[in-house]
Amino acid sequence: MTKILIADADVITLDGEGRVLRGADVAIADGRIVALGKAPPDFAPDETIDGTDRVVMPGFFNAHTHSPMTLVRGWAEDLPLDRWFNERIWVAESALEEEDVYWGAALAAAEMIRSGTVGFADHYFWMDRVAEVVEQAGLKATLAWCVFGLGAEQEIGGTTLELTEAFVQRWQGAAGGRIRTVLGPHAPYTCPSEFLARVAERARELGVGVHIHLSESEGQVKASLAKHGLTPVAHLAALGLLDAPTIAAHCIHLTDEDIAILAEKKVSVVHCPGCHMKLAMGVTPVPRLLEAGVNVALGTDGPASNDDLDMLEEAKLASLLLKNHYRDPVLLPGDAVLRLATQNGARALGFAESGVIAPGRPADLIVFDFDKPHLRPRHDLVANVVYAAKSADISHVMVDGQLLMREGELLTLDEERIMYEAERRAWRMVGQELRPVREYQA
Ligand SMILES: [Zn+2]
Repeated sequence: MTKILIADADVITLDGEGRVLRGADVAIADGRIVALGKAPPDFAPDETIDGTDRVVMPGFFNAHTHSPMTLVRGWAEDLPLDRWFNERIWVAESALEEEDVYWGAALAAAEMIRSGTVGFADHYFWMDRVAEVVEQAGLKATLAWCVFGLGAEQEIGGTTLELTEAFVQRWQGAAGGRIRTVLGPHAPYTCPSEFLARVAERARELGVGVHIHLSESEGQVKASLAKHGLTPVAHLAALGLLDAPTIAAHCIHLTDEDIAILAEKKVSVVHCPGCHMKLAMGVTPVPRLLEAGVNVALGTDGPASNDDLDMLEEAKLASLLLKNHYRDPVLLPGDAVLRLATQNGARALGFAESGVIAPGRPADLIVFDFDKPHLRPRHDLVANVVYAAKSADISHVMVDGQLLMREGELLTLDEERIMYEAERRAWRMVGQELRPVREYQA
């Protein structure tokens, strides 16, 4: 396998001590980082990347998205959550076809690689097509086929839990281990209790995790208390669902007891600040969750509610939103927010070794070109990345030691064809008679 040397670069390691190295080599072989600091004299690279004016750091892991929803980017604007679902999203999806999923995910993959994402947790329909994209793009992903448990005739693509289980088994560990699969029940407010209990049982039997939406609004919490006498978190815990390794998106409205449950069950909570602010949903209590020992990661959510898949922007938004919301400029100091966007996401997705630049770790990394006016001077490289850098400053992206982008050029995807096909499919989808596929009731 290719040996690559990034020579004489600055490196944000995100290691245990939070070291930032100046003028260091990063040597990569067999998909892993083999040396950091000074490359061994006998290291003979196939390719050398000049690290002058470059900053290397771990790549981003987007812990909650719906990548094929690139096709409905800009299709549901300036609406509250219930109308966002009922008037736009769950209407457009009545025209969704399997082939749309492929091109929507391919468009997302191109955007994600360009903005430094190396892995993502996806939750959508016809997920075999997303898996194909992941395989071709060279990314890592943890994929869930979204299912509501309302009977095949009410599901997009006519799926069932059994069919999504078959998907999980078909793709688990595929693409040299870059693809992981989990079950994807939509949410406690859409899925019947008996169905969620069955998902919990099947997750245990198959030894896989779960990816779900949780506690997005006050209305959902009230409805859950009225219906089950439990908060959405306590309801899922009572059904045994949180016993599986769980990725729980949003978790905005939480009681102290909910936080204790999430910590005890080792649930990974995904904060999606761009989506939360845009839909005026509130703020995930990140400081309280971190204090309780919960693994908190960051996600963009789908491009219909963000409207992009830019994790660098998401990290900046998370830092600014939380500091302002809690009136505490000391919150998430130093590289803390970069850890949420990289290694905590990697842990949530089941790629726990990623997210650190250190010998022995997978070479899932990105390189910034810092030879730009907005990145001078360089008092604090971490602050420059979080608050001043743009994702367009990213020049190289590498997953398992394979370059997916070199000097801004995508190496694994035909970007021009993808943009053409995705645009065409997006217009086809909304250019016909549409009907609601289900109704949102919190
Ligand atoms: Zn979502």
